[in-house]
Amino acid sequence: MTRCNNTRREQIITRDITEPLDVLIIGGGFAGTAAGVTLARAQRTVRIIDNGKPRNRFSAHSHGIMGRDGANPMELLDQGRSEFMTFGGEVTQDEVTSLEQTGNAWTATTAEGRQFSARQVLMATGITDELPDVPGLSELWGSRVFHCPYCHGYEVRGRNLAVIGGRNLGFTTRMVHLLRKWTDRVTFFTNGLSLSEADRALFEKRGVVLMDAPVSRVQPDPESKTGVLVSTTDPNEAGDSASATRAFEACFTGPDFHPNDQLLRAADCESENGWVVRHPNGKTSKAGLWTAGNVTSSPDQVSQAMGTGVATAIAIDQSLLDEELQQIQGQAHG
Ligand SMILES: Cc1cc2nc3c(=O)[nH]c(=O)nc-3n(C[C@H](O)[C@H](O)[C@H](O)COP(=O)(O)OP(=O)(O)OC[C@H]3O[C@@H](n4cnc5c(N)ncnc54)[C@H](O)[C@@H]3O)c2cc1C
Repeated sequence: MTRCNNTRREQIITRDITEPLDVLIIGGGFAGTAAGVTLARAQRTVRIIDNGKPRNRFSAHSHGIMGRDGANPMELLDQGRSEFMTFGGEVTQDEVTSLEQTGNAWTATTAEGRQFSARQVLMATGITDELPDVPGLSELWGSRVFHCPYCHGYEVRGRNLAVIGGRNLGFTTRMVHLLRKWTDRVTFFTNGLSLSEADRALFEKRGVVLMDAPVSRVQPDPESKTGVLVSTTDPNEAGDSASATRAFEACFTGPDFHPNDQLLRAADCESENGWVVRHPNGKTSKAGLWTAGNVTSSPDQVSQAMGTGVATAIAIDQSLLDEELQQIQGQAHG
């Protein structure tokens, strides 16, 4: 671990490691790292534990980030992590497998058998995207297959786009309507999604081409950087006419979003509609356990994840200060 030589670094190195940290951050993606920078700058002892799988690691460029549009997401995160360490933060590359409340502190245990305790814990573990089960699709995820028009729509504006369904009906149909703002050439392969007659009529009115034959394969189109070849096999046709391959200039799909919230659920955090509830400023229903980013909000883009990370970090710092003031007051009256 490389860190800047400053007084804060000395403080951390000489800190008794059996003493709980002020804050442990589980997940060092965009939300966790931004929170870490704020907490380290606020002179808190803070450690990030991260297992190195940020959600957008498959993309070479991250868009819609003011001042850094098109930056490589892994480079951006590395830079944030270096800043965090410069301010005295510590990083452990590992996976947290359990979290327990012990008195006023939380103790996290990792896959490699390490244990860390902290007064407060921020969970910033993101989500896992489950793609439709189409051969070839996952290999192109993030480079030729996307899900968020706000992230990647501008780069493919005006082009001939395919949308492949198969999961997440609500998200996918909304995305198709959104994409029509960026281009008037959208073909929606429903691929098993069941559309109502009203949905079909609306798509037809908006000039969306609907294809119901199941998608059998997606491959890169060697003719272009973002192009894909979409193959279908129609079970109602026989012979050569059953299969067809069409070329598109880019492709979108609607994954199922699974929050990486097992540790929050094991801690009995309140949840609603399948998601752990994030109260204002990032609190969960459990005192001392906080969240930021995609783990409790799937639509958050990078800037939003960083924003909620920073807002939550400030709320955590204030809550630690309140605890410290109460302790001093208690001692004065004791
Ligand atoms: C293909 C793709 C492209 C995208 N493009 C853009 C874009 O162009 N612009 C944009 O703004 N947004 C984009 N996004 C969205 C962006 O990825 C998210 O907004 C962002 O990653 C959310 O940050 P986060 O910190 O909540 O989660 P993440 O960045 O996913 O970070 C979560 C971290 O927690 C770690 N973790 C999980 N569980 C544990 C555990 N138990 N122990 C230790 N560590 C753990 C993971 O390894 C990961 O590093 C894209 C997403 C995808 C899927």
